[in-house]
Amino acid sequence: MSIPFIDLAAQQAEIADEVLPVWQRQFESAGFIGGDEVDAFEHEYAEYIGVEHVIGVSNGTDALELAFRAVGVGPGDEVIMPANTFIATAEAVSRIGAVPVFVDVDEEHLLIGPDAVEAAISERTRVIVPVHLFGQTAPVERILPIADKHGLVVVEDAAQSQGASSTAGRAGALAGVGATSFYPGKNLGAAGDAGAVMTDDASIAGYIRNLAGHGSSIKYVHDHIGMNARLDAIQAPVLRAKLKRLDGWNAARRVAADLYSALLADIEGVRTPTSRPGNTDVWHLYVVRVADRDRVMAGLSEAGIGVGIHYPTPVHLTEAYAELGYQRGRFPVAEAAADRILSLPMFPHLTQTQQERVADVLRSSVVR
Ligand SMILES: *Cc1c(COP(=O)(O)O)cnc(C)c1O
Repeated sequence: MSIPFIDLAAQQAEIADEVLPVWQRQFESAGFIGGDEVDAFEHEYAEYIGVEHVIGVSNGTDALELAFRAVGVGPGDEVIMPANTFIATAEAVSRIGAVPVFVDVDEEHLLIGPDAVEAAISERTRVIVPVHLFGQTAPVERILPIADKHGLVVVEDAAQSQGASSTAGRAGALAGVGATSFYPGKNLGAAGDAGAVMTDDASIAGYIRNLAGHGSSIKYVHDHIGMNARLDAIQAPVLRAKLKRLDGWNAARRVAADLYSALLADIEGVRTPTSRPGNTDVWHLYVVRVADRDRVMAGLSEAGIGVGIHYPTPVHLTEAYAELGYQRGRFPVAEAAADRILSLPMFPHLTQTQQERVADVLRSSVVR
């Protein structure tokens, strides 16, 4: 029995009857940019997240870049973020000519550490980015007071946590501005690349919409040097159909996470993930930690079980960021985690039988 890391076909099968007729209409009317479906999705997602404005955009990386530009990040400014995130968080900063400043994470949840953030603040710091990694929400409630004290802006990277919440609200609605990705494999995924920026601030929302459409609000009147970063109209019906099912799918992920934690509890040498107090996590990834990870991973792969590493190299040690001069040893928690983390199959349609098999193979791979 082979088990995929993620089963997107099962999601598509669930929404096909709803999406295909809308796609047909879109093809016939050739309404591919903007339009009713995009507007409707933006309103539905805004209501779901609990913000005033959602701007659908081309992908999560562009969403982050737009958010950073809209809050005033410019060349030479510094943006603080965790060392273990997807590289896109840093890329969006670098593309503006600003500088990503990495900090270590907490040992238990591998989320950005508030003390590390405070220690990294300099004259040039403008923004702090809590990354809501693996389907958790990062400790925004502890970062906001630090940002206030130093006059900084908080931009959330909610790409891995659609629908996740802390006691303060949903990921993406916890600070002034949030950015997210609807890459197909995210909890809320499009049929291609897509993303969104979320905010309560009407002027930031208007500026982002302008920037995302070539810096223009009136055709051929260009106020700013913008981007082409709009959400494709054909993505909107997919996102609308999946949004209706998101809470159900996230609940299924929580059931699966609980079952994994029970099945793996007695395996010595396997550390299972836990939730921060007050969090309702959505388990975008279920990440265990094991010694001799590459060998354990090979055992799972040989048995036909799809696994992943998120991420094998913390961003500060990537070749892409070698020029920033970070040395190994700088962020011991993130670096040690990178050698031990292993993401197990996790998706809403995962079955108990599949999970039992993953647990059995993991057990034998660890002791072997
Ligand atoms: C996926 C992801 C992004 C980037 O989104 P894209 O849509 O792939 O550009 C940014 N940050 C994090 C944490 C992600 O997981």
